[in-house]
Amino acid sequence: MAEQDQPAPAGVDPTKPSIARAYDVVLGGKDNFAIDRAVVGEMLKIVPELPEVATHNRQILSRGVHYLVEEAGIRQFIDLGSGLPTRENTHQVAQRSAPGARVVYVDNDPIVLAHGRAILAENENTTVITADLRDPRAVLADPEVRRLIDFAQPVGVLLVGILHHLHDSEDPRGVAKAYMDAVPSGSHLFMTSFCASFPEAAALEATYLRVLGTGRFRTLQELREFFGDLEMVEPGLVSLPEWRPETPISHDLSVAERLMAGGIARKR
Ligand code: SAM
Repeated sequence: MAEQDQPAPAGVDPTKPSIARAYDVVLGGKDNFAIDRAVVGEMLKIVPELPEVATHNRQILSRGVHYLVEEAGIRQFIDLGSGLPTRENTHQVAQRSAPGARVVYVDNDPIVLAHGRAILAENENTTVITADLRDPRAVLADPEVRRLIDFAQPVGVLLVGILHHLHDSEDPRGVAKAYMDAVPSGSHLFMTSFCASFPEAAALEATYLRVLGTGRFRTLQELREFFGDLEMVEPGLVSLPEWRPETPISHDLSVAERLMAGGIARKR
């Protein structure tokens, strides 16, 4: 443990890197340990633009949630693989437009709950649970999920920045489908992921596998299949900055801009 690090919260092993804490490093946060900074150092050797990629991911999260509240009328969210709280979290974006919006954050890393206490204290319409998103049955049956989510009303299901951590053997398409099967018509699936359709992705994917133990970057075609028969919201599945940008994009996309793709689709 480096001198400046806080003691690890209960259940958190500071000697093993964690996805949530590594992402926190990339975003410039403070909830991480020396081992996380070391693995991010390895990633930055391959793609120095990684912080910019993560910033694009946080920006589309904000634009996407804003769209879901303002244009699709969604008032409740299940944010799967939500990560450590940072700026402009789902509940802050949603509740700014719709103060009564309800958000359940789901993450399997106990550090997320430890640092999510402030979110819990903010209001009774937001909660954090520690659960494995690969087990939709358990997540959907969780008492906190049942307390905040009305399954008779449309739900925003978020799989933002997480699919590239799920291997094919874990049936990520089946997982996404299980959540969408549990929610009514008018619900939306919001997804972003690293995209294997560009040459820079392969070396980064290999580094993820080596240092974090997970890494399966998918092509645009593979990612499109996650939406199944849901109806894609314009402009479809695109590189992150191309999804409903605040100002039109007129330049060729940089590496940082095209390494991840995202989109939203509506359940008919
Ligand atoms: N969704 C946030 C975003 O895009 O800004 C955070 C993304 S972060 C890269 C991925 C998060 O997914 C991490 O916090 C990690 O702990 C969590 N995660 C990974 N595997 C998971 C699983 N099987 N169940 C629940 N959470 C998981």
